[in-house]
Amino acid sequence: MYLVRLLYLSKATGGLGTSGIEKLLLSAQRNNSRAGISGMLVFNGEYFLQVLEGGRSEVNGLYQRISADPRHQELLMLQMDEISERLFSDWSMAYVPSSSLTRELLLRYGVSDEFQPMLMSNHSCLGLLTALRAPLAVV
Ligand code: FAD
Repeated sequence: MYLVRLLYLSKATGGLGTSGIEKLLLSAQRNNSRAGISGMLVFNGEYFLQVLEGGRSEVNGLYQRISADPRHQELLMLQMDEISERLFSDWSMAYVPSSSLTRELLLRYGVSDEFQPMLMSNHSCLGLLTALRAPLAVV
């Protein structure tokens, strides 16, 4: 069983308020703990950027389920690599709201101070996610 990391972005279909996100996260954290998957989800009300880490078949299966979810569209897989260690092992699914996307961080990894993951390279997306780990509480 190989350990892999999958990175993708997508666009919310709309109408996903705070309670919708909370529901999604609760279910993700429950399912991911069971499947040995860790990761992080960033959402600014318009775009999702998510990293998933775990066994190759578990991560593949989850990505297929996520791809069919009507709460988002225009999924773009950015990266799927075999890895030797996890970067997000502390979280079954950490959540980063737009308030944590500071101007300084966005300008460090992107071309503007807006969160536009489709205009960021795969490396910049992973760099941003990695930088966002530090202030998070462990879930
Ligand atoms: P439940 O979460 O209980 O949902 C039951 C069914 O209802 C599912 O088919 C679900 O798609 C659908 N559903 C629930 N709420 C809504 C709604 N508001 N609108 C439309 N359909 C709805 N799942 C994970 O397990 N791990 C993850 O890391 C993860 N990340 C996600 C990231 C994003 C951006 C999105 C949009 C979804 C994510 N999901 C994740 C959810 C995933 O797509 C599946 O919905 C979920 O895995 C199904 O879990 P469940 O069987 O426990 O069903």
